[in-house]
Amino acid sequence: MKTVHNHNSSGQKYGTGQKILVVEDEEDIADLIQFHLEEDGFRCSISHNGLDAWNRVEKNIPDLIILDIMLPGMNGFDFCKNVKKKYNIPIIVVSARSGETDAVLALELGADDYVRKPFSPRELMARVRSQLRKISTDPDLQHGNLTFGKISVDTDGHTAKIDGIKIELTLIEFRILQLFMENPGIAFSRDKLLDRIWGRDVYISDRAVDVNIKRLREKLGPEKERLETVRGIGYRFRGDNES
Ligand code: CA
Repeated sequence: MKTVHNHNSSGQKYGTGQKILVVEDEEDIADLIQFHLEEDGFRCSISHNGLDAWNRVEKNIPDLIILDIMLPGMNGFDFCKNVKKKYNIPIIVVSARSGETDAVLALELGADDYVRKPFSPRELMARVRSQLRKISTDPDLQHGNLTFGKISVDTDGHTAKIDGIKIELTLIEFRILQLFMENPGIAFSRDKLLDRIWGRDVYISDRAVDVNIKRLREKLGPEKERLETVRGIGYRFRGDNES
């Protein structure tokens, strides 16, 4: 079951969640990409047509575009060229066409990365995160270091370490961890987390919160107990002086 939230409450701190536009006319593939993006906490919109996609970009600039080449309306090469002329949005081209020329042409037209179909969704997500890491400069994020037990977070470098060893977090996982570490002992409801991490006006299932918390716990290893479930409410982070 999917619960859909419309977030209009205030108190947003982390800016809007990152918006990914998927331009893909094959619905199965678009759905697959959307599923994985939302699971990773991104906001996703899909366009099946190059012209429609261009209009969407003009109306609401996405943080990243995943782009198919063979499209009705406007082909992916023209779309890529037009977007890059006007905007600095990372574009990952996904194409079924074989041969190196597509990849070379896409990159020459300004695409930031190229993935050949059939692709592994995990690989595509890794590339999405990698592109977003390059541009992630959220002015709202506080600066400095936060440490609890074996966990330390560098909010400038967007890195987290357990026992001095760097752990790989998605941007969403990082934001969740940072928010908790800045507010030890405070319980956050799923709604509140959706607001603070993904941003208001987001249509996303609160299951995304649980999925991200679960993954974050796994990555916290020996310190995972600090991320506590607060029955009937949500989650909280246990600081050093609490039990
Ligand atoms: Ca296509």
